Amino acid sequence: MANVRLQGITRRFTNTTAIENITFEVPDGEFWVMVGPSGCGKSTILRTIAGLETATGGNLYIGDTLMNGVPARARDVAMVFQNYALYPHMTVAENLAFGLRMRSFEKKMVRERVETVARSLDISHLLDRKPKQLSGGQQQRVALGRAIARQPQVFLLDEPLSNLDAQLRDDTRAELKQLHQKVGITTIYVTHDQVEAMTLADQIIVLNQGRIQQIGDPQNIYARPANRMVATFLGSPPMNILSATYTGEVFQIGNESLPCPFALRNKLKLPEGKTFDLGIRPEHIWIEPQTPPEEKEYGQLVIEVHVVEPLGREILVRGRLPESGVVVNFQAGADWRGRPGDRLTIQLDLNQLFVFDSTTGDTLY
Ligand code: ATP
Repeated sequence: MANVRLQGITRRFTNTTAIENITFEVPDGEFWVMVGPSGCGKSTILRTIAGLETATGGNLYIGDTLMNGVPARARDVAMVFQNYALYPHMTVAENLAFGLRMRSFEKKMVRERVETVARSLDISHLLDRKPKQLSGGQQQRVALGRAIARQPQVFLLDEPLSNLDAQLRDDTRAELKQLHQKVGITTIYVTHDQVEAMTLADQIIVLNQGRIQQIGDPQNIYARPANRMVATFLGSPPMNILSATYTGEVFQIGNESLPCPFALRNKLKLPEGKTFDLGIRPEHIWIEPQTPPEEKEYGQLVIEVHVVEPLGREILVRGRLPESGVVVNFQAGADWRGRPGDRLTIQLDLNQLFVFDSTTGDTLY
């Protein structure tokens, strides 16, 4: 096993810079997840680590070895893609054994390792089947198993669950986590699914437009996002962003206003008359008949209900400020009976407000 260190890795194509100055170090045995919107450079970073892509700048180390220019097959990494890529003419057992045979392992050892891996992924009963006789979820387990069987130094996973249906995806995600706890191979995992990122990661790397936005453990990134992009990317439903003008006492949002909490005013000394982006997560908004705990400092907005989405345990509500059209998402209890067109008062926990610079997006508070 080994740590993986990227120092200023850049990859330029003729007309685009896919990734720029990427620097991070995954310690030996940890599970790191790269997240970000489509095209932000996640796969390019992973492929560069695997040796399937050549960086145009920077250094990559696996363990203490500089890997620039080292071919993929000599890197001792295993990569799993979203489309499985199993060998169709081979059985599951042969697929699992393939990487080991290529490395001239003894027959007995190959058989033992295939059996162990198959047991740990619960695919022992499928060993004699061909890939086309398997479901998508089973194929994906075989693909994972083939990578695990090699016992690589580093495990690279590119959206490995994205072709699975919701239930299977949840199950496989939990199994992956267990598996990592058992084998402890250094793992870098790419996804655009923030639930996967939050649940699997020791550390999350959030990327946007080829650059690292923030690195941190899931709870910390959620609680203290470095900027508006990170704040809105992690969390479902996402954090609400309200454009507001600071007047010295209140944040003015169209015709409505929210008092500026004392602590915020004291700490930030915001310039009056300037516009900021306020952030508030849906879970920090209450609606009648719920009332906020007395000790909370809260502000009120009147909204018009726009969309109601029952989820069973709770209801997601999309509202709009009637004059300005600003959208506010929040959650209501399962017994809430609001309908589109209703007007209602929502209460926002002012101690949970974020303030972002509306130009740079940087978190100010
Ligand atoms: P997705 O989530 O959609 O898979 P991603 O975050 O993995 O996206 P990359 O595939 O790494 O993103 O691509 C990053 C950027 O580099 C994109 O703008 C993409 O168009 C560009 N890019 C990737 N490969 C090439 C290439 N071979 N030639 C030119 N541009 C490329």
